[in-house]
Amino acid sequence: MDTQYYIELEDAYGAHNYKPLNVVLSRGDGVWVYDVEGNRYLDCLSAYSAVSQGHVHPKILQTLKEQAERLTLTSRAFRNDQFPLLLKEITEMSGYEMALMMNSGAEAVETAIKVARKWAYQVKGVPREQAEIIVAEGNFHGRTTTIVGFSTEELYKEDFGPFTPGFTVVAYGDASAIEKAITPNTAAVMIEPIQGEAGVRIPPEGYLRQVADICQQNNVLLIADEIQTGFGRTGKLFACEHEGVKPDITVVGKALSGGFYPVSGVLASSEILGLFRPGEHGSTFGGNPLGSAVARTALQVIVDEGMVENSRVLGEYFLGRLQRIESAHVKAVRGRGLFIAVELKDTAGGARRFCEALQERGILAKETHDTVIRFAPPLIIDKETIDWALPKIEEVLQMS
Ligand SMILES: *Cc1c(COP(=O)(O)O)cnc(C)c1O
Repeated sequence: MDTQYYIELEDAYGAHNYKPLNVVLSRGDGVWVYDVEGNRYLDCLSAYSAVSQGHVHPKILQTLKEQAERLTLTSRAFRNDQFPLLLKEITEMSGYEMALMMNSGAEAVETAIKVARKWAYQVKGVPREQAEIIVAEGNFHGRTTTIVGFSTEELYKEDFGPFTPGFTVVAYGDASAIEKAITPNTAAVMIEPIQGEAGVRIPPEGYLRQVADICQQNNVLLIADEIQTGFGRTGKLFACEHEGVKPDITVVGKALSGGFYPVSGVLASSEILGLFRPGEHGSTFGGNPLGSAVARTALQVIVDEGMVENSRVLGEYFLGRLQRIESAHVKAVRGRGLFIAVELKDTAGGARRFCEALQERGILAKETHDTVIRFAPPLIIDKETIDWALPKIEEVLQMS
């Protein structure tokens, strides 16, 4: 079966809610993926960081196989022997007291919103139905109706309303804007430490620290959405660590799956997550033994194989080399760890054609908005592979 056949099937029978590159992948191995015609590509997207450990990581695969043969789903109506171990390991690793596991990132964000509101009513004393959550312009927290309701991207929300009230949007990167927006009813501030989908937008130095201080002074929870930035992507376990910030709530997902099985979660103190009582929140698949076992190994290999450190060291190298490329099209090259963006000038003719040219040369990268190419390979990438990719990227950025 050829590439065109699969593309036609997908476009005929599937909703067109994505605009993928026309490459049909059938196999993955580490940083490499292979299409149905046998061509090899370097994956520079890593499924939006969900495959940070590399494709089909052998240890995670082994865990998946063993657990799949033993027990896959119990629902939380019964207990299982993997979920408690994941809770212990993820809280020890992250330094939080409790975790609540879900499946997709958006569900974990919804969970964080619910628990922050509950905290506002039960602990802070905000009058019922009045809780406010401050979010940032350019945010991306997922696709549920509540979440897209406070997006500032028209495309994400047009025709999907009416939306959930209770959210205030302020400029990203400006701590004083948050301070001004806080009222006695503010439950939480929710931000991404680096805005991934907005184009790897890195806030000014000191922003996260200032926001954390403002939250603390005003008895407001800080929620960090580390779904994309977490687990080593930016060269620290969590991106907030770059400024020594420990948010009240950290939301995780993506790489927690090891690229195999969706697992997300909310990390917080027992004062916060302990507010949930039986029946108030749940998910049929949340905390299932298969996902829990996979997530345990997905975390384990990040530590055992030094992926956070590799992201820091090779990210710095990759970024430095990209910054040295001379190109009339490039406006800015920025990044932290292996979370890198090449922003093109408006005159470059859009990022899509550059991504297609990269594809022809064996590199898969995806444009973010119209003008940004994101380079976020699996965290196991080595220097040799980066050196293989650099001349190809240079050639593409120097196209007319
Ligand atoms: C991907 C992402 C989400 C949503 O995760 P899903 O698993 O797609 O629901 C939320 N927040 C951030 C920062 C993300 O990058």
